[in-house]
Amino acid sequence: MSNGTHYEVLARKYRPQSFSELAGQEHVSRTLQNAIDSGRVAHAFLFTGARGVGKTSTARIMAKTLNCAEGVTHEPCNVCSQCIEITKGTSTDVFEIDGASNNGVDDVRDLRDNIKYLPSHSRYRIIIIDEVHMLSTNAFNALLKTLEEPPEHVKFIFATTEPHKLPVTILSRCQRFDFKRVTLPRIIARLREIAGKESVTISDGSLALIARKGDGSMRDSLTAFDQVLAFCGDTVNDEDVATLLGTIDRRLLAEISGALFTGNTQAVLAGVKQVDLVGYNMRQFCQELIEHFRNLLVIRSVAKPEEILDLTAAELDELRGQSLHMSPLDIQRRLTLFLKAEAEMAYASFPRLIVEMALLKATLLAPLVPVQELIDKIKALETAAVHTPSLPWETTRTTAPAAAPTYESHHRGVPTPPAAIPATPESRPPSLTAPPSPTAGSGGVAEWGRFVVFVNEKDRQLGSVLEHGSPLKQEKGLIEIGFPAGSYYLTAAQDAEFIDDVQRLAQAFTGITTAVKVKGIEAGFGDAPLSLVEKKKSDAEQRMDELRQEAENHPIIKEVQRLFDSSAIDVRPL
Ligand SMILES: [Zn+2]
Repeated sequence: MSNGTHYEVLARKYRPQSFSELAGQEHVSRTLQNAIDSGRVAHAFLFTGARGVGKTSTARIMAKTLNCAEGVTHEPCNVCSQCIEITKGTSTDVFEIDGASNNGVDDVRDLRDNIKYLPSHSRYRIIIIDEVHMLSTNAFNALLKTLEEPPEHVKFIFATTEPHKLPVTILSRCQRFDFKRVTLPRIIARLREIAGKESVTISDGSLALIARKGDGSMRDSLTAFDQVLAFCGDTVNDEDVATLLGTIDRRLLAEISGALFTGNTQAVLAGVKQVDLVGYNMRQFCQELIEHFRNLLVIRSVAKPEEILDLTAAELDELRGQSLHMSPLDIQRRLTLFLKAEAEMAYASFPRLIVEMALLKATLLAPLVPVQELIDKIKALETAAVHTPSLPWETTRTTAPAAAPTYESHHRGVPTPPAAIPATPESRPPSLTAPPSPTAGSGGVAEWGRFVVFVNEKDRQLGSVLEHGSPLKQEKGLIEIGFPAGSYYLTAAQDAEFIDDVQRLAQAFTGITTAVKVKGIEAGFGDAPLSLVEKKKSDAEQRMDELRQEAENHPIIKEVQRLFDSSAIDVRPL
């Protein structure tokens, strides 16, 4: 790999020397080459983009193309003295200036004096200013004067990672090219090519790790590769790469997320322990978890995740396999937990604890059932209702025939067990089609209910008190109402004016003079019928009991409980 004492870093050794070698910036190369071919080369260019994506390399290739002894062509020859000097950085006509260190007005004045002269033995004097946004305001102003009236023999090439920091006056005088982050497959392909030239044995997985470390920057990826080669030599071991680059083995991430979705807390925490043992930074681990779940989410949410995710085909396949049984919604909820944990870790003294808590929470999250799925299930239940009798609303209605008031038994909270009913589609319970027959005229509870409704229509306030009363007696010309002893309602009802009003309304309701008596009754009062409020509450409780019992016995719910290994159900009436 290395030849003796001098080791040239890969980024320099394999710096692209022609447009065809520029990886991932084809849009820039093509436009520049077209401009050269058509003889319309601007006098100032601005190359923008992240670090290490090829801006300076492109500037040098451009300089060579313009000054090549072979003539201004598509590609530099790279063998003439002009090309070689530019590659070495010794050309007297190409000035490479680092804007970060030569940012003063004097530096720009020197530059202006310098470009007054014709090129010594090239076509153009070419000024390349890297990190041009670092120039001072005065320097920009000095530069602007030159840009406004550039000599024919001068070309400017500016490069910057932060174009928004440039004055508009400068921006408007440059032809701008935006360099993209280099895609992962392109970086991997380039690394593979270099590994071949350097006779290095390395797996695709390791190359992917190295490439990912560069985060879209070819230079950073090559620097990471240098580091790996310095450590491993010509035969690169996967585990060494993972340890060296401080990245978490993707298999471990896959294991942890797999355990998480099967509710295996033991395996999840064991995974964290393993991460900690190798000495990974916990926050970094959390960020990788986030990235991992983002990948899963995208894979489960879109048709062509490969267009969105920076993943190799093999990685994509693996994640596809992992995410098969996860719903996007469930992935998203976990992702939210990790994002929150990551934010908390910035200020925390116990980062591992925070990750562990987030992971445990994520592991124990009850699965959400999407609304549409619920609707589908209800529809299925409705269809099934015609064929199978074991559904709550049918059995309750049939076991509670409306012939006699039944709410004394409701009061004791005894749920009516669902009865088995012959399963013929035709024998649907009559109560579903015919309305329940009221106990009309019996002077019973139904009559009381109708009276309260009547009062409510006339006087809402009177009615609301009566709703809390128990109809102790309802005879011709007499109504006796019981209220809980000591309650506000008893006091309100014992008021003479109240009794007068109720008597008047009772007479209007029954058509005969009716006396109204109000009595206090003890809580837990033996046989007193329930007040409407109590009845409503007791009915609701009973309905809940019945619904819960029916739900527990229903085959679909049983299956769901089996699937999620859970026993708790919360029943809520719709
Ligand atoms: Zn040349």
